[in-house]
Amino acid sequence: MKEIRSYNKLLNEIINLNIEFRIEIIGYVIYFNKIYPMLALKHLSKMANKTIIITSGQHGNEPYAITTLLKWLKQPIMIPEFNYYIFPCINMFGYAHNRRTNGARQDSNNDKSFYKDSPVKELAILYEQFPQTASLILDVHGDSGKSEVYCYEHKSENLPSIAEKAMIENDNLIPYLKTKTIYKIPVTNGVIVPPKEDIGIEGVLEKLGVQYSLTLELPAKFDGQKRAEGGVAIINSILRHFKEVK
Ligand SMILES: [Zn+2]
Repeated sequence: MKEIRSYNKLLNEIINLNIEFRIEIIGYVIYFNKIYPMLALKHLSKMANKTIIITSGQHGNEPYAITTLLKWLKQPIMIPEFNYYIFPCINMFGYAHNRRTNGARQDSNNDKSFYKDSPVKELAILYEQFPQTASLILDVHGDSGKSEVYCYEHKSENLPSIAEKAMIENDNLIPYLKTKTIYKIPVTNGVIVPPKEDIGIEGVLEKLGVQYSLTLELPAKFDGQKRAEGGVAIINSILRHFKEVK
């Protein structure tokens, strides 16, 4: 199968980043006789009291989500109270072929397939590599039909919305969706509180004790450079506000 873009090139770009994260190859998948290694970037601190997970590249046809995360990786805000687990490209075959699904035509963005030895190979790898506990997970996606950013947010009861603050703060860089609903679900300040079963691998993460589970949807119909800058600013806002949460 012919590749649309080079996953190896992306691998090299990440491996050659001059950053504080430890970079590991955590497993690989094989499709059509081609090997696709999966990367994890970790930064563990003795001072840490919270663990955050950032994932991207679930859907190969949203490559700008990965581009944005790469830009963030080059200038991350390193908060000493956080352990970081970053999985920059989960669907490696999809990235190379600009396809939503993996090489077996499975959508990895599915909590029902997120368990030990999952038949979705990418999720089986991820399941083994996820930390034992986490306080926040941020999954960076894109929406091909939109020209504004929005975010899904699951959170424990009584906690403030950190996604709404991040949307409002960065509205000048990348405007958030101002409509009252999206896909028939109510939106407040660009943030959707989805039904529980409707957010990727979030169901499993509740067992890890996550306080926040966020899915950031970057708009496809937006200037690429501004989208990356706005996306980085939103990620940083989310992390800063999360730091303040008790
Ligand atoms: Zn997506």
